[in-house]
This record gives sequence, C-alpha cells and structure tokens, in this order.
Amino acid sequence: MSSNPEGLVRGAFIANEVVPVASGSSVPVLAPSDGIAFTEIAEAGEVEIDAAVAAGRQALESGEWGRLPGYERGRLLARLSRGILDHAEELVALEARDTGKPLGQARADIAAAARYFEFYAGAADKLHGETIPYFNEFFVATEREPHGVVAHIIPWNYPAQMFGRNVAPSLAVGNAAVVKPAEDACLSVLRMAQLAAEAGFPAGALAVLPGRGSVTGAALSAHGDIDYIAFTGSPGVGELIQVAAARRAIGCTLELGGKSPHLLFGDADLSLAIPAIVNGIVNNAGQTCSAGSRVLVERAHFDRLVAAIADGFGKLRAGTPEMNLDLGPVINARQQQRVERYCEQAKADGIALLAEGTVDAAVPAGGFYIPPRLYGPVPPDNALAREEVFGPVLCVMPFEDEADALRLANDSEFGLLAGVWTSDGGRAMRLARKIRAGQVYINGFAAGGGIELPFGGVKRSGHGREKGLAAMHELSTMKTIIHRHG
Ligand code: ADP
Repeated sequence: MSSNPEGLVRGAFIANEVVPVASGSSVPVLAPSDGIAFTEIAEAGEVEIDAAVAAGRQALESGEWGRLPGYERGRLLARLSRGILDHAEELVALEARDTGKPLGQARADIAAAARYFEFYAGAADKLHGETIPYFNEFFVATEREPHGVVAHIIPWNYPAQMFGRNVAPSLAVGNAAVVKPAEDACLSVLRMAQLAAEAGFPAGALAVLPGRGSVTGAALSAHGDIDYIAFTGSPGVGELIQVAAARRAIGCTLELGGKSPHLLFGDADLSLAIPAIVNGIVNNAGQTCSAGSRVLVERAHFDRLVAAIADGFGKLRAGTPEMNLDLGPVINARQQQRVERYCEQAKADGIALLAEGTVDAAVPAGGFYIPPRLYGPVPPDNALAREEVFGPVLCVMPFEDEADALRLANDSEFGLLAGVWTSDGGRAMRLARKIRAGQVYINGFAAGGGIELPFGGVKRSGHGREKGLAAMHELSTMKTIIHRHG
C-alpha cells in the first residue's frame, strides 16, 4: 500500500488498499507547465465502483466505522490532518506538478486541506439534534444521521482542497465517502487516501476511484447503492448529476461555478480593493469557481478606478510552479484554447484590451500559459460578461448608481459570490442583502472564503452548502424519534 518515492499512486484506493483496476485502463497525466505526460492514473470501472460502494456499505452496517462515536471519528480526522502536515512538502510537489500552480499556491492548498480535517475533527461530536414539545405523553427528539455511502465527484482546480472540503465533513458525520477525483489532477487525492489509512480510518470509510468523468464519474453517479451525491464542477455535468440523483430520488449538492461580480464604488479603499480584485481572478490562473470575474465600476470614477486595476494587472507574471510567480499555466490544452477563443472573440467584438501581464520567457514551450488580460468596457450582454471563462481574464463595465450596480450584479444566470467595495456602510449592507449570491464580501474578497464560512450558490451556481458547520447538515439527514411514554 505504499507509493513510490515521488508519491505517485497507480490504482484505485478501496478498503485501505491500492488495487489495480480490472480493465487495465489508464489515463496519461500531463504536467501543465510543460505539456509532457509524466505518469498515468488507473481508470476505475464498474468492478471497482461496485467494490468501493460495497466496502462503504459494509463499513457502515457491520464494520467498525459505523460503530464509532463522533469523538472517535474526530480523532481520526485530527490524525489525518497531522499526517497531511507531516507530508506537506511531498504533497505540495505533487499538487504543483499535477496542476501547474505556483509552489506558494500549492503550499497554501495543502495547508488548507489539513485545516479542513482539523476543523471537522473538532466538530465531529458536536452535531446536535433538538427536542420538540408535543402532546404531554410524548417525548420527541431529532438526531442527525449520515446519509450513508456518499459519492463525492470533485474537479481538478484544487484537488487537495476539494478533498478536504468534501471528505472531512462527510467522514465527520459518519458517511462512507467514495471520491471520484478529476482525471486531469488527482495525485494528491490518491496520496491523502493512503495517509487516511495510515491515520487509522477503518477499511471502507473512504475510497478514491480515479478515472475520466464520462467513464468513472458517470458510472458512479448512476450506481444503484449510493445514498447521496456531492458534486463540484461544470454546470453541464451538474445537470447530468442532478438527473442521475433524481432517477433514484436521492439528494445531491451541486457547486457549479459562477460569474462573480465586484461592485467597486468611488469611495472604496483602493489599497484593499485593487490587490483583492486582481488576486481574485489570477489566483490559480482564474480557474476558481468563485473567482471575481466581473468588476462593476462606478461611472463617475471609472477612469481612475480602472487605471488602478490595469496598473495591478500589467505587473502580473505567469511562470512554472518553481518560478513561483503570480500564476501558473491553465490545466490543459483544451482549457488554454477555450480561454484564447474568448479573448479572440473579445477582440473581434471591438472590446479594448486594457492591460496584459506577461508570461516569463523561460517557460517550457509546451506549457499551457496565458498572460492575464483585462478587458473593458465590456457590454453586459457580451459573452465575456456572462460566461464562466475559467482563466485569468477580467472584464470591467460601468454602472450609474447603486440601483444600477445591483441590477448588473444580479443580471447573471450564476449566483455564487460578490464583493462590495465602498466606505458607505449603509450602502454596503443594502447591497449585500439584495445581491443574489451564496456569499457576499464587504471590503474584502477571498475566492471561496475560509473553511469556517458556509459556501455555495443560487441559480445556476447550484444548490446546497459546503464548508463550515453547514456542510455537516448538508451531508447528513434528520431523524425524528417520537416516543409515547404515557
Ligand atoms: P471542469 O469543467 O471543471 O473540468 P467537469 O464538470 O467536467 O468540470 O468535471 C468535474 C468532475 O466531474 C470531474 O471529476 C470529472 O471527471 C467529472 N465528470 C465529468 N463528466 C462527468 C459525467 N458525465 N458524470 C459524472 N462525472 C463527470
């Protein structure tokens, strides 16, 4: 059950073992920084999915996992958090190579993954029910129960963080978690599953099934014996997941990205706003579902505010993970082409390129690099203002007044995050309460927010909440026990 010295794991992780897949299928893994395949992952199929789900069921119903009280589950989570920190540099190297992100960003991601397990370790024995007054001869109480076997289908942009964000609350409430990481980047996830076994999680509590979405993901979401699906990814696949859940009338959580706006007023503190706005789109090369990808700017101050953003943007530099610059490459050639198509269309539509960062001249020729680009003013009906580009591309557009800012902010099919930048506290609160989004920041912006902060979307950004204690509610169900005692 060991990995080789580089931490590369080839196989599926089922019942605390790395097992070869029955089909023998594999998928090559390219390093985004040079475009060269450096390893391959196994592709789990029906045989492995059946085995992982059965191991989870067995762990819950007759194994040790289902018998553990919350505080014992919490201790295991705490041990895994420690294990991740003890292997941090190995995981950082894996994550950076697999995703192409700068080492500093990979380091922050691994620290966050550990922090997820730490947070939910402390919460595992604190998910209380309540008592309910009823007729005098009754005693009524509710309690939270795990859903059972939960399929977690996660994306490639933050593999380690997504593992922590999904698996830590799921195991904290006592589910068996079957994780389908993304084919483009899943090496840190496979390695952390091994660390979970080393931390002492009973066999079956956790499985990781690598493979392509159309193969492994589709078969897992359609499996007849899973109890819940938690999905993070694109809106199109989210629809398929919701249909798969609906066919069996099981629940699902969908986190499907966004087109999150900043509302930037003339009275904003630019020393806070500009770095946060710039970082909110270039962090992870813009491949963040909660990236702030539209900046709505008060027209009376448009030139001054946009010049400040352009100044920040023009200084940005992209490079390899080891160069550790502002951003790395995007994940693959398909994503690079997709982002470039948006930029070509913007040019064809006559939208001005206001600022452009640089790609370091020393990056390998085959890497998937894109210089950060700032466009504007972008008409509100342009694709750049409406669609999730998932790259380091930011668009600015003017608004007239508070009402117009609100109208533009909500003029989106998505509703994940928003950032309001103003020194007028009343205006900030009025807007925060009327913007349709799962999280609204005032005079701050951290894409996705902290581990403690409930996170999720409205409209096409999906439904359900992750992070914070809310995730434990989402990943559990409620039972009401009605006792007639006479
Ligand atoms: P992205 O655009 O970020 O790649 P996807 O929605 O394609 O987002 O991928 C998110 C996750 O969903 C990945 O693990 C991917 O393999 C998986 N996936 C893709 N297609 C399907 C599908 N048809 N059924 C289930 N999972 C899928």
